[in-house]
Amino acid sequence: MDVLVCGAGVAGAALAYWLRHHRFTPTVVERAPGVRTGGYATGLRGEALDVLDRMALLDQVRALDLRLGGAAMTDEDALPVAIRPTDVEILRDDLAGLLYQATCGEVEYVFDDSIATLEQTDADVRVTFDRGRPRRFDLVAGADGLHSRTRSLVFGPQERFVRHLGLYTAVFGLPGRFGGRVHRVPGKAAGVLVTRDGSRARAALHFASGPLAYNRDDHGQHKHIVAERFAGQGRLVRRLLAEMWEAENLFFEANAQVEMDRWYAGRVVLVGDAGYCAAPSSGRGASQALIGAYILAGELATAGDQAEAFAAYEREMRGFVAEHQQMGREGADQFFLGPPPEEELGTTVARPHLVRLRNYAPGLAAERSSPGRAAR
Ligand SMILES: Cc1cc2nc3c(=O)[nH]c(=O)nc-3n(C[C@H](O)[C@H](O)[C@H](O)COP(=O)(O)OP(=O)(O)OC[C@H]3O[C@@H](n4cnc5c(N)ncnc54)[C@H](O)[C@@H]3O)c2cc1C
Repeated sequence: MDVLVCGAGVAGAALAYWLRHHRFTPTVVERAPGVRTGGYATGLRGEALDVLDRMALLDQVRALDLRLGGAAMTDEDALPVAIRPTDVEILRDDLAGLLYQATCGEVEYVFDDSIATLEQTDADVRVTFDRGRPRRFDLVAGADGLHSRTRSLVFGPQERFVRHLGLYTAVFGLPGRFGGRVHRVPGKAAGVLVTRDGSRARAALHFASGPLAYNRDDHGQHKHIVAERFAGQGRLVRRLLAEMWEAENLFFEANAQVEMDRWYAGRVVLVGDAGYCAAPSSGRGASQALIGAYILAGELATAGDQAEAFAAYEREMRGFVAEHQQMGREGADQFFLGPPPEEELGTTVARPHLVRLRNYAPGLAAERSSPGRAAR
């Protein structure tokens, strides 16, 4: 089966990996000219680490853990917001890069392009692209994030599904080691993250706001919005804003969720933020993208047809996603209050895990897992 995956982020690359594992033929189309860099730390927990283990990537991920391995926060106060406890913290682009490296030898990646139109028939999906020639696929998976074009084309306009949670975040790279404490005032927070070897540093600026109208591709406009919001905020923020104007990889995004009654229609299915973004304030976006990709590919490999597979994928994931979305809303409410107190962390950790990872088809990943860590 030929499967088009739209988006080469965490969900898209992980889905491509598992589709290959199950002997499908995935093609990944990504709007950007390469795997996108930028972003802050992303947390990974529980079953997501199991998925990475089954991909034989867990050792590499742990080596990049910002708290344990090759990198660290600048200081203990460098968590500006109520971040949920996670088992591993890794730069988002390190994770996306590892997943790309694990797949690029066996998967066709088409960069600088996107789906333009989709037409479903009983037998296939006919896809036209912004640049490439039209192609036919058996299935299409939208892994194109919060502003998914796949979702808009098949399910309806984004306003129907995206719920804004009242804050925005800007992340950008800083040159070399950049010390400095965290800045927090009501409705605004800033923090700096530096890898232990000092080779990479990231700034994150968060501010409370209702939905803003802007061009998502206009980074100059994003910088003006951030600069206005943080005007007059003291020395650290002044230095960060000066760096922001020079930054090439600004990531500016709303803290928002995607709420849908159904994640599939015919031969098209959504995975990761495209279908069920829990918002950065959940701290669970990458985890649920990895788990969703694993389950979707596994169900496709074992179910009778795609309708059965998509339904089973959604059934397995729904409760888990609902829990994360609840965490995202709570996280947004408490965002500027600082890290949660000890007992609250305990409550969060004690929440039930609502997803199970079936062993869909032992094989490739098990063979490739490191000794002593056989895939279950
Ligand atoms: C550059 C970047 C930085 C991020 N930084 C943070 C962060 O600091 N904190 C945080 O909590 N979350 C961040 N996120 C979101 C986080 O990566 C996701 O919540 C999580 O990893 C789930 O991943 P996903 O693959 O579903 O979505 P994403 O990681 O958003 O990946 C979606 C991919 O689809 C591509 N895409 C979008 N539209 C199209 C299209 N029309 N056609 C083809 N491809 C398309 C995007 O370029 C991207 O590569 C960031 C995302 C990106 C892309």
